Parts: sequence; C-alpha cells; structure tokens
Amino acid sequence: MLRPGPLGFGLRRRVYTERMAVEAPTTPLDAARIKLDFPILMREVNGMLPAYLDSAASSQKPRQVIDAIVDVYETSYAAVHRAVYTLGERATERYEAARDTVTAFLNAASRREVIFVRNATEGLNLVAYAYGLKFLGPGDVIVSTEMEHHSNLVPWQEVARRTGAELRYVRLTDRGELDTESLEELAGADVKLVAATHVSNSLGTVNDVAAIARWAHDHGAVMVCDGAQAAPHRVVDVQALGCDFYAISGHKMCGPGMGALYGRADLLEAMDPFLTGGGQIAKVTLEGTTWNELPYKFEPGVPPLAEAVGFAAAADYVTRIGLEAIHEHEQVLTAYGWELLSAIPGVNLFGPPPPDRAGILSFTVDGVHAHDVAQILDAEGVCVRAGHHCTQPAMRHFDVVATSRASVYLYNTTDDLDRLAAGVDRVKRTFGV
Ligand code: PMP
Repeated sequence: MLRPGPLGFGLRRRVYTERMAVEAPTTPLDAARIKLDFPILMREVNGMLPAYLDSAASSQKPRQVIDAIVDVYETSYAAVHRAVYTLGERATERYEAARDTVTAFLNAASRREVIFVRNATEGLNLVAYAYGLKFLGPGDVIVSTEMEHHSNLVPWQEVARRTGAELRYVRLTDRGELDTESLEELAGADVKLVAATHVSNSLGTVNDVAAIARWAHDHGAVMVCDGAQAAPHRVVDVQALGCDFYAISGHKMCGPGMGALYGRADLLEAMDPFLTGGGQIAKVTLEGTTWNELPYKFEPGVPPLAEAVGFAAAADYVTRIGLEAIHEHEQVLTAYGWELLSAIPGVNLFGPPPPDRAGILSFTVDGVHAHDVAQILDAEGVCVRAGHHCTQPAMRHFDVVATSRASVYLYNTTDDLDRLAAGVDRVKRTFGV
C-alpha cells in the first residue's frame, strides 16, 4: 500500500514505485503530524524534504524545545546560582526546575542524584575519573563489553592504565548480543565495576540492565550504564533498573547539547569531584577546599541555563507524547525497515532481528563502501550515518570496518523507510552490484 507522506509528494511516489511488495504497517503514533513540530524536517534540502534517519547520532528538535530556549534568553537569562537580583533568581529557579524534570524523567529517588553534564560522554568520564580513579586499584577487575560505544570503553581503559586495575570484556555472540557465558567466566575475578550499555548504538541490541546490575551487585561491584540510546526511546526508571550510575544525552532526545548523569547518592557522596572550580565548593582557603553538597559538587562553573531548560522541555515533549507509544512506534518501524532491507539481495543487517531490538538498522551492501551508500542515499534526501559508530570493537567482531546505519525516532514514518529501501536499490544500480 502506498501511504502518502505528510505533504504527499509526487517525487516520493515516483521513488516508491519499484517497492510495493511489502505493505506498510500502521504505527501507534501519527508521525506525519509529529513531524510538523520539527521545523527542520519541513524544510527542503536539495529540493527534497529530508527522510531523517540519523537520530541515533543526534535527534532533531521540535518547536516546543526551540521556543523554550528562546524564551529563556528573552525572559530569564542570567548567571545561575550567583545573582541576588530578580533575573538571577529566575534563572536559578528555571535551572533547578529543569533538574526536577530530569529527576522525574529518570525516576531518580532524589534531585541530589542528578548531575547536569555536557553529554553522555562527560557523564561516563565523570564516573571513570571520580569513582574509578579513587576506588579501583591493582588486582581489581573492571568489566566492560565488546559492544560499548567508545565513551563507555576508552574511559575504562584509562582507569585501568592509571590504577593498575584489569579490564576484561563480555564478548558478543554472532547475533550481536552479550555472551552470558563469557560474563559467567568473569564471576571468579575480583570484579569491582561493570560498565555496560543499555542499548547498542551500532547493533540495536537491548541489554537486560536489571540483570546485569544484579549480577554486578551479587559480585560486589557497581554497575555503570550508558543510557544514551535508551532514554530517548523507552521508559527508563533508574530505581527499577537498579544500576548505580546511568548517563543520558539530551541531544539524542529532542533536546540541545546537554546530558545528565544519575548516580546513587551514597556513591556520589563518597566520590571526589571530577572537575573543580567555582560553584562546587563549600569553602576555599589558601590551604584547601571543601566541597558543596550534591549535586553542585559535580557542577563547577556557570551552569548552561538555556541547555538545561531545553533539555527539560525535550523530556516534557517526549513524555507528553508517551515513551511507551514512542517505543511501540519504533518497534513497528524497525520491523518494517528490517523486512524491507533484508529483502534486498546483497544487504546484510547486523544485530538481533526484530522484535526486541532498538530502532537502529545497521547494514552493509555487498561490494559498496558504507560511505558511498550514505552518499547516494543523501542524493535521495535520506540521511543515514556511515562509519564505525564509535564502536570499533563491535565492528571488528563482525569483520567489517564500517556500516551504514539508519535509526528511527518518533517523527519517522514508513515513508522514510520506503525512501531508504528505494535509495538502497539505487545504490545497487549505481554500483552494478
Ligand atoms: N553512548 C552511546 C551508546 C552513544 O550512541 C553515544 C552517541 N553516539 C554516546 C554514548 C555518546 O553520547 P554523547 O554524544 O552525548 O556524548
């Protein structure tokens, strides 16, 4: 069945004519309407509206978030936590209200457990430097996994190098899932920290974080979870997951460049700051310094007010649409995209097949470099990422240097996936493969 896009373009219809064998499903969200909230998706690029399939790298921003950011600058901007004048107090109130929103979004037990950071990478590095360097040493074992984004792998290599702790890895199965046997092989080691992602950004695998956290705790370790690819797409409840740290990234969930780190209060209390400077101190003398209370101890410098307010507006936006509905929508789109791509000879998809996988379709086309695939798709108005996705060990496991990756979000329609599949057909024709 042909389903017209939001504006029903002739161009798109032409592109689809070859691919009418697979019927497009209906999804729980009216994504064509949601798309209207996103000004950039309503603007032509090279004469076409974009089929934006790169939200795993960074999502687009709805009018509601853009307006919230503009509103801060127009009505409430001043240095947060520093000024006694009314505008300064307003700025502080809005910044702290944003923290309350993110606290509720993650269902953290207390706002003291939510630290604003620049992005997920900074959140994970905060744990590595402030927890890892203080509490790990020779003889201790850090467990990470072969599917980690470099942000949850390289910091642990650094901690191991600096402390003398040993870094070991949970291996991947050929379905792109964690090999539970290889986790059990680590049971006898003196494991002190387990760092694992909730959702793989290059394979789409969804890990059972609650089970990994239980395993970590049973073995006397803390669990650090990279939630960058999960929090935008599913309900995340850090208390139910039971992890000790959970890092998220606002720019992947309709917000600006900003992130948050959830950390268990008793652990954060025991840690020293990662960065030091103004605002995070209680008292400074020439002889020494004492730290401010949580969460300010970990937030030196003038806080990024507009980013925090935009981040909270994004959390409100996806919450209002409903994370269950977003998740269900993506499940349907993912199954559809998987079916379309796997029907094309010479296309290889990575990671576990649907259902129960995230909306990340990582694929190669035999005989064509991933970057060429992405470039030809761009000529069709289809935006996908190509490369190793900052997961070189996972790529190596599958013996590829790069894949093309299409990732879906709440604003994607089945039309976007039809255009992707039609674009891949075009890639094959162009290269004669
Ligand atoms: N972890 C995962 C799984 C990711 O996909 C990404 C972004 N590609 C990151 C961490 C890093 O996120 P950020 O850009 O917010 O630092």
